[in-house]
Amino acid sequence: MHVIVVGAGIAGATTALALAQEGCSVSIIDAVPSPAMGASFANAGLISPGHCFSWAEPGVMTMAAKSLLGWGDGIGICQPWTPALLRWGALFARESTRERWLANSKAALALASYSRDIQFGTPAIPVDAYGGQHAGILYLYGPDHAPSTHDAALLRGAGEAFAQLDAEQLLQHEPLLRQARVHFSQGVYCPNDGTGDAARYAAACVDEAIRLGATACFGQRVLRLETRGDAVVGVTTDRGHHVADAVVMAAGLSSRDLLSPLGHELPIHPVSGYSVTYRVKGSKRPRVGAVSIPHKVAWAAFGDETVRFTGYADIGIPGESRARRRFEALERFAAEVFPELAALQPARWIGQRPMTPDNVPFLGAALQRNLWLNCGHGAMGWTMACGSARAVADLVLGRPAAIELAPYSWGRYRALGRRP
Ligand SMILES: Cc1cc2nc3c(=O)[nH]c(=O)nc-3n(C[C@H](O)[C@H](O)[C@H](O)COP(=O)(O)OP(=O)(O)OC[C@H]3O[C@@H](n4cnc5c(N)ncnc54)[C@H](O)[C@@H]3O)c2cc1C
Repeated sequence: MHVIVVGAGIAGATTALALAQEGCSVSIIDAVPSPAMGASFANAGLISPGHCFSWAEPGVMTMAAKSLLGWGDGIGICQPWTPALLRWGALFARESTRERWLANSKAALALASYSRDIQFGTPAIPVDAYGGQHAGILYLYGPDHAPSTHDAALLRGAGEAFAQLDAEQLLQHEPLLRQARVHFSQGVYCPNDGTGDAARYAAACVDEAIRLGATACFGQRVLRLETRGDAVVGVTTDRGHHVADAVVMAAGLSSRDLLSPLGHELPIHPVSGYSVTYRVKGSKRPRVGAVSIPHKVAWAAFGDETVRFTGYADIGIPGESRARRRFEALERFAAEVFPELAALQPARWIGQRPMTPDNVPFLGAALQRNLWLNCGHGAMGWTMACGSARAVADLVLGRPAAIELAPYSWGRYRALGRRP
């Protein structure tokens, strides 16, 4: 069976490898010169089933209103107000009831823990190849914030391990916090979470897929999917035609536009985030990945030399002045947590999370035969990558997936999402 995977971000790269491992003839096509140059490039690197709660939560619309008035803290909305933004915002608001939050977070957790167990349990890529670490993640709170009882109930219900820690216990897990100028008074430790550089992982997956016989076509932009009758039969790129028995759409944010001519109107919207990556040698690197919940900033070390701080969520694409303010705030915060970073010049990066309103991706069958979706992973694409890839590969091969895929079907937006 010949399968085209459109996109070599973390979703496409893991899918290509899962299919190649099953003996498929795989072609990976990506518009850019190498893997993971989109949203997967310099993300926070957290593999975090312990914190994959839907962002559409009760109270989030009040937060959005505050951010419009300039009182927002870490979240924002970028102008202009396009119809796509308004439509996505309305759908996002609809998901922010307690019941919807719970259903969406449960679906995210099910996929995330399935994915983590595959990635850590039967590693296709060794941890050293991507600066990986299976040492858990700390979720930190200041004196004015406390871990949510809803989050704890959800984790407990799913059997996900976690421990609530006081300030002293936090320091035992992360001794470097002793020198921090910001105080964390309590936290949650999820021992089965982990960290790693998603871009290095994606590149390693592509290399391994090629070793197994896949071909990679970088620098080729897919212009459209080709159909015959009710089936997809290949793609046309800016370099020519490719035929295939099946096509997996894993083009992140661009999946929306590539699928639109086929009748799908998937609500995938960019939500921008920022990262600063420092080169730090020696022992003065964080021992475990962490997230400061009140500041909406995460950090992790990858391998021996890299420390990255990542944060914020701006719906849309930021202008220059907003981006500059975000980077300055992020670098200031990084220096408050680890003072020696103040002397270093980090590499700055802005990425767009391909967000769905319910924070759950689109996986599985599309409207057309032989077309499979693996896109819209929002803030959790690295956490969910290996599980999404395995599930989609199972479907392509005509087998049932090992997890229930109904929550990730595009059909949940059928009423609003499909052209008449
Ligand atoms: C700041 C930030 C921090 C994050 N932190 C985390 C985290 O800690 N943990 C986590 O789990 N997730 C995190 N995420 C989310 C995660 O990075 C994304 O969900 C994930 O990278 C999406 O992967 P993808 O492969 O779907 O998309 P992408 O990585 O964007 O890949 C899509 C690929 O498709 C290609 N493409 C697009 N259009 C075409 C075309 N027409 N033809 C050919 N190729 C095309 C692109 O070039 C690109 O390579 C973060 C995201 C951001 C922005």
